[in-house]
Amino acid sequence: MREKNIQVIQQLLSAPKKIAIIPHRNPDGDAMGSTLGLYHFLLKNNHFPTVISPNEYPDFLAWMPGSETIKIYEKDKISCTQLLHEAELVFTLDFNALHRVGEMENVLNTLTAPFVMIDHHQSPDEYALISFSDVAYGSTCEMVYNFIAALGKKSEIDKTIGTCIYTGILTDSGSFRFPKTTGNTHRIVADLIDLGVENTEIPNLLFDNSSFGSLQLLGKALQNMKIFYTNKTSYTTLTQDELDCFNYVKGDTEGIVNYGLSIKGIDFSAIFIENKEDKIIKISFRSQGDFDVNQFARDYFNGGGHRNAAGGKSEVSMEETIRKFEELIPTLKI
Ligand code: 5GP
Ligand code: MN
Repeated sequence: MREKNIQVIQQLLSAPKKIAIIPHRNPDGDAMGSTLGLYHFLLKNNHFPTVISPNEYPDFLAWMPGSETIKIYEKDKISCTQLLHEAELVFTLDFNALHRVGEMENVLNTLTAPFVMIDHHQSPDEYALISFSDVAYGSTCEMVYNFIAALGKKSEIDKTIGTCIYTGILTDSGSFRFPKTTGNTHRIVADLIDLGVENTEIPNLLFDNSSFGSLQLLGKALQNMKIFYTNKTSYTTLTQDELDCFNYVKGDTEGIVNYGLSIKGIDFSAIFIENKEDKIIKISFRSQGDFDVNQFARDYFNGGGHRNAAGGKSEVSMEETIRKFEELIPTLKI
């Protein structure tokens, strides 16, 4: 974080302001953790922040401190549009291209307030006055911790802010296993634990709260899985009918894609999930090692992300999407 940029932010935050804080659509643990962590920090500094999420957050994150204050754009467009227009400063966290907020992009494009981006994805767009964009970080939450520290306010990080930050570090690092987990990540986590962050309770809240339906859905996805050992690839599918059959709620498919990667000899896995309402097949890709799923998602499935975790979408049927994917498999260098 460059000294000059930090000075600009210090200037922007020198008097109380109305501030909008925005995560990407379908916010995950890092998007929720970073926006809520920043929210509590700004509140503590006498600002008037509001987290405005493009759509509903998943149930397994509803316990997070401050989640009850989040405004949902797609549920309440009129008041969210007004809040966005009133904002004197806009933070966008855990994404770097405005289309990641869905329909809310149309409103963001009309705003005149300065934008600050904090994000760890590749190839940032240039919409922000100040961009803290760094793919070396495993999570936006880790960046928010460093951002607050760079403002000289590390001592203001308390248990509430720490709980939010810890959640995103935990979820985006695959519980501290993914390659971008560094000594600094663990040093931050150590500080957060010293502040009282409940490091054993939070994983329970996140991961040990399954419904029976979500476990059955996982079972279905495992049954549907196909393996291509010669290409080190596996994929699975869930149709809308299958989701409905097991009373799917948002968040139930989180993490299923990782099961494919846990198979010996598999370095690339994908999950294709039908969404009839949005008329798309939502896709998640994961890899281990050098195969770049961000590039793959960009090239073939209108998406992006990171080298080892990316997503995309397809606007044709499940059958056609799978046919395209299966045709690509033998051409990939995995
Ligand atoms: P997930 O598979 O968990 O939804 O997403 C994995 C990673 O890929 C996340 O970092 C997410 O931000 C990114 N990602 C997921 N879907 C999309 C997409 O449609 N477009 C882009 N650009 N990135 C995505
Ligand atoms: Mn993230």
